[in-house]
Amino acid sequence: MAEDLTSRRALVLGAGMAGSTTAAALTPFFDRVTLVERDHITGSATDRRPGLPQAAHAHLLLGSGARWIDTLLPGTTAALVAAGAHRLSMPAQVHTLSPHGWLPPIPEAQFLLSATRSLIDSVVRERLRTDGKIELRAGTEVVGLIGDATRVRGARLRDRTTGAVREEPATLVVDATGATSAVTAWLAELGTTPVPTTVVDAGVGYATRALRLPDAWRQFGAIYLQADPAGTGRGGVLLPVEDDRWLLSLSGVRGQNPPTDEPGFDAFTAGLRHPVLAEALAQAIPLGPIRGFRKLANRWRHFERRGFGPDGLVVLGDATRSFNPAYGHGMSVAAQSATVVRTVLTRDASAPDLAARLQRAVARCAADAWAFASGQDARYLTEAPPGPGLRLQRWYMDRLGRAAVHRTAVTRTLLKSYTLDAPAGRLLAPRVLGQVLTVTTGPPPPSPFPPEVLPQRLPPGSATERTAP
Ligand SMILES: Cc1cc2nc3c(=O)[nH]c(=O)nc-3n(C[C@H](O)[C@H](O)[C@H](O)COP(=O)(O)OP(=O)(O)OC[C@H]3O[C@@H](n4cnc5c(N)ncnc54)[C@H](O)[C@@H]3O)c2cc1C
Repeated sequence: MAEDLTSRRALVLGAGMAGSTTAAALTPFFDRVTLVERDHITGSATDRRPGLPQAAHAHLLLGSGARWIDTLLPGTTAALVAAGAHRLSMPAQVHTLSPHGWLPPIPEAQFLLSATRSLIDSVVRERLRTDGKIELRAGTEVVGLIGDATRVRGARLRDRTTGAVREEPATLVVDATGATSAVTAWLAELGTTPVPTTVVDAGVGYATRALRLPDAWRQFGAIYLQADPAGTGRGGVLLPVEDDRWLLSLSGVRGQNPPTDEPGFDAFTAGLRHPVLAEALAQAIPLGPIRGFRKLANRWRHFERRGFGPDGLVVLGDATRSFNPAYGHGMSVAAQSATVVRTVLTRDASAPDLAARLQRAVARCAADAWAFASGQDARYLTEAPPGPGLRLQRWYMDRLGRAAVHRTAVTRTLLKSYTLDAPAGRLLAPRVLGQVLTVTTGPPPPSPFPPEVLPQRLPPGSATERTAP
């Protein structure tokens, strides 16, 4: 691909987080960027899009992710907050029960934005519209690629209203069609070698319900009960979102998936590691059905390896690497990948093997998120006993987790790495190592939710007492 990309055309497939931010990243280098989306998009922030079934579930945007989006689409964070997203300091306003205890409420080490996924996407899309070079073609399904095994030259697109299929040529094609991307099938049609894939599947499942809570719950910000691999592997998160709503998302591993019927959902919540979420649920008015999501494996398709993926094509976002969402990394990694695309193109947009360079850069920036999510999920797998290297790694991570509960300097470092604000390598820095190796376990930090601080239940018959949906 040693061509000058100036005056050329980029085709970005899928207008989710990866596709939207990458479209923004590409505009300085192309005359026209076409963003193709299967769903019809009305522009409303309350849309339920079939192509984004995960949008019903809690979607926190890490501060690092927000900053990466702002780099490409300036003003997005401010626009999100203006539209009702909650900006929460971590850990002070995100009360987190780790496997080792509650994280201390130190001042902001990081922040996150809490809003529905639909709001996040609609604000990002709105800002894309201000870029005259980007054309959003909604209601258009990608049905294949054009080119051959060595070079992709465009895509076949089907208009979902008329059914007409046409070929759309492009200098660069970016596949960002998400976790269900058919890119491997499209590539097989062109005769490429199947791409190797790594899967770490703990059989994670989600269930989520939107709620209204009494106003007194707002003082707490978000509440996150992490799963404990040494226990049941069940977790839950309660996030405030726009319009005075909350999302309660529950997660469980194989055989422990949260049910989507009301008694089962309530019982699962009651069985979590701390009763605070069950109390919230007992005081809540449900705002709709419980929605489930299964098959949340960590999956990495290795397009970055030499010999896989023809020139002219870059695959990013969930289409190349998806994670157990309990770690909240997916959207941020998608946005980070887009900034990396911008950086690589800025260095040399006409480099030979540009697509391969882009693919390798994208793979590097997702490495830490992959290590956190797949490393933690691998603890639920029992097929093979861990070797000495892995045992040492787990021993260290356990001690690190314990130190993060008892030593605030470690809390800060762990949170920064965990939220992708600092490289995971920092967790092995001598300063951290010293704290981790010398930590002694005193009494665990107290729960921020003793019964006396919880809002009182309202008497039966009062206006906001829980009612059936
Ligand atoms: C239950 C759940 C909870 C999650 N929670 C979080 C969280 O808290 N924080 C976080 O950061 N991440 C979270 N994630 C992960 C996050 O949703 C993804 O990582 C992120 O959306 C990836 O962006 P993407 O653009 O790659 O894919 P998506 O955002 O899924 O977008 C793919 C787009 O491609 C379109 N498309 C698909 N096929 C075609 C086609 N053939 N033609 C045209 N268009 C097509 C789809 O309609 C969609 O718009 C969660 C995921 C799940 C499943």
